Amino acid sequence: ETNDTVLEVNNIEVIYNHVILVLKGVSLKVPKGGITALLGGNGAGKTTTLKAISNLLHSERGEVTKGSVSYRGEITQHLDPADLVKRGVIQVMEGRHCFEHLTVEENLLTGAYTRTDGKGAVDADLEMVYNYFPRLKERRRSQAGYTSGGEQQMVAIGRALMSRPETILLDEPSMGLAPQLVEQIFGIVKQLNEGEGYTFLLAEQNTNVALRFAHYGYILESGRVVMDGPAKELRENPDVKEFYLGMS
Ligand code: ATP
Repeated sequence: ETNDTVLEVNNIEVIYNHVILVLKGVSLKVPKGGITALLGGNGAGKTTTLKAISNLLHSERGEVTKGSVSYRGEITQHLDPADLVKRGVIQVMEGRHCFEHLTVEENLLTGAYTRTDGKGAVDADLEMVYNYFPRLKERRRSQAGYTSGGEQQMVAIGRALMSRPETILLDEPSMGLAPQLVEQIFGIVKQLNEGEGYTFLLAEQNTNVALRFAHYGYILESGRVVMDGPAKELRENPDVKEFYLGMS
């Protein structure tokens, strides 16, 4: 185990509804300050892995029945999701989930609800978010439900940033977005990683784009990690090319 591993998933098994075994021993390490991608097709177990990390499985009748998840060396399975947020781990759910009737700015401010460091600090972070997402500044007074899919994805990421996270779990940021917007969102993730030092673990079906922006990747198939390596090596691996990048 290296010093810079901030999040570690160790051989976890996840069962839904007491009977459906979905993760069959998944292990992964997320280095501090890196972008790590969790890849694989529909139903491979990416979302389940992220929810196991952020303790969001209970509402889905899911349970980690074996193995462990630790953050900064501390086992986190017993924590409330809100406690994890306080420790710096936040998940951006698949499908964005904005509060449609609130404005863009109100949505962003809901992300700051666990903070106790005062209005000045929150306002400074709002400016930081607008700096990375100028489009959100233009749309700050618009009702979120009337913004585009790309803007809603930006709101979802921006709202996560407002909790002052250290590690961001991003579920399928490319979902439903045109290629140009996908590039834009990933470009901002990269800037946030390089500029502010945020650690990212992102789940993606879009292997091509994820491996261009991530440093390291894990490929899941039917609830197991079947391959992992530096993104550059995965991009050049013949099996990855054939099965995940659509070329041979
Ligand atoms: P997707 O891109 O579709 O979200 P994924 O790789 O994220 O795919 P998961 O959503 O983790 O995959 O799903 C993994 C498996 O677990 C699938 O077979 C799915 O049907 C099953 N599953 C997910 N949620 C539940 C649930 N609440 N109850 C029972 N089975 C579930």
